[in-house]
Amino acid sequence: MTNQEGTIYLLCFPPGLHVTGNRYASHYLGWTANGVESRVAYHLRGEGSRLIRAAVRAGLDPQVVRTWEKATRTFERRLKNTRNLPRLCPHCNPTGYGDATR
Ligand SMILES: [Zn+2]
Repeated sequence: MTNQEGTIYLLCFPPGLHVTGNRYASHYLGWTANGVESRVAYHLRGEGSRLIRAAVRAGLDPQVVRTWEKATRTFERRLKNTRNLPRLCPHCNPTGYGDATR
């Protein structure tokens, strides 16, 4: 299952939501095997992720800023584990966003 290939997508919704303490969330990383557009539409209807639902309700406008094709959930986990999604975002980090090693 973890070797199934799909598409990883990065959603960006500046300036983000206050999560807890001094943490703000302005990005969401997800994986889908069924097409990014339909998956994101699902999110924007308020389904699939509490964070995105809250962002939409707060008047933010989550946008897909980056995708990784033919990617596994293992790679998605690796990206999430960096705990630094803004670094991967071409919108927030235009000069230095890196391609994490798969
Ligand atoms: Zn961003």
